Amino acid sequence: MNKQDQPLIFEISTPGRIGFSLPEMDVEAVAMEDILPSEYIREEAAALPEVSELDIMRHYTALSHRNHGVDSGFYPLGSCTMKYNPKINENVARMNGFAHVHPYQDERTVQGALELMYDLQEHLIEITGMDQVTLQPAAGAHGEWTGLMMIRAYHEANSDTDRTKVIVPDSAHGTNPASATVAGFETVTVKSDENGLVDLEDLKRVVGDDTAALMLTNPNTLGLFEENILEMAEIVHNAGGKLYYDGANLNAVLSKARPGDMGFDVVHLNLHKTFTGPHGGGGPGSGPVGVKSDLIPFLPKPLVTEKDGHYFLDYDRPQSIGRVKPYYGNFGINVRAYTYIRSMGPDGLKAVTENAVINANYMMRRLAPYFDLPYDRHCKHEFVLSGRRQKKLGVRTLDIAKRLLDFGYHPPTIYFPLNVEECMMIEPTETESKETLDAFVDAMIQIAKETEETPEVVQEAPHTTVIKRLDETLAARKPVLRYQA
Ligand SMILES: *Cc1c(COP(=O)(O)O)cnc(C)c1O
Repeated sequence: MNKQDQPLIFEISTPGRIGFSLPEMDVEAVAMEDILPSEYIREEAAALPEVSELDIMRHYTALSHRNHGVDSGFYPLGSCTMKYNPKINENVARMNGFAHVHPYQDERTVQGALELMYDLQEHLIEITGMDQVTLQPAAGAHGEWTGLMMIRAYHEANSDTDRTKVIVPDSAHGTNPASATVAGFETVTVKSDENGLVDLEDLKRVVGDDTAALMLTNPNTLGLFEENILEMAEIVHNAGGKLYYDGANLNAVLSKARPGDMGFDVVHLNLHKTFTGPHGGGGPGSGPVGVKSDLIPFLPKPLVTEKDGHYFLDYDRPQSIGRVKPYYGNFGINVRAYTYIRSMGPDGLKAVTENAVINANYMMRRLAPYFDLPYDRHCKHEFVLSGRRQKKLGVRTLDIAKRLLDFGYHPPTIYFPLNVEECMMIEPTETESKETLDAFVDAMIQIAKETEETPEVVQEAPHTTVIKRLDETLAARKPVLRYQA
């Protein structure tokens, strides 16, 4: 049956039909009046559909198939991509000793959990080239804010209170300026040059005595490595500012280059991207933050610490910015990331980066004859195309994204970064096979041909989904969540 034709559960409801039957009760039933005030007791039965067990199972299974996830199809989003979700992670996270610990348990009874957190911190320190890590923040943006609050506390501790500005490139992820604003800073934009990299002359122009930090991701959101990073670090450090690294997508450099060696002072990681935590539906995530030694005093408290083989939560941190999350972070995601890092090992993590980068370059080269490539050089884990050639024929990037749905793909990130016209940003990830990459490229090539020959097929897409084009703003602001006959 076509997904569109799946009957809705209310429509197949038949009075008296039930999903299951239980044996007669052989104890006396408690009267509803004895346990609930009368105003809470229903006078009529709820208008629920009456269906068999099979009908209800098929209903929910059909609904679940309407979602696209990394387990159902290729998901080459770009920037916020859901990467690998190994199933072994789920087995480990569900082990009783991990799943059933309580945050108020005595330290002596959760030594294993604390050891895992401590070891994870140590691994992340090694991976990022930082001196200490906190696991508390619950997401990437939360990590950004935590890092900036530490930078703020650092400048304040040095009585350097006029540093009110955070510099971000025009290609930055939207959370960067947002976090800077929430942390009480003013953001200043630095331009990209014609190669898609931070314009050094413009950086020299905007940096100054009022610079608190430069926020950067490397490779940047165009998928390009900022090759002048050491010079940029020197410019910012000489002005007294700190360097913040957005490490949400570390699969571009894992085991190859470390933010700490590039001159960064603070870095956040998204364990729910690079380190295989699932992040559908907004969470739970985990955004650990690593810092260089001069920022360690400001880390959130408590910090998981070890002494003589005993693991404990260190609250004795007088300069700490305080707690940024109830309890100690999203522990279940820590368990998954730890499982991943330990099962991959250093060579495995290096292979992740090599595969992510080669996959992206392979797709970019295959697509280059059909779409404009704004920056024609090797990319890292992702790349951007421009749909400006198709726009001249009346097909916009939004149409291309909608048409991809007909082929069963999650579309790439579109209209971001903002500095590329009709932008499509594509991240294949390290785990996809050549066959999958080729099939996606073939679909994109077919869409490019349709744009020339039958543009209305693309302009009117999607044709095969349950819902056609939504007013996305209205859908987000006023979602219709109830079934209406
Ligand atoms: C995903 C992402 C973020 C934000 O992470 P959240 O966990 O969604 O808050 C920040 N920067 C970049 C580059 C990202 O891809």
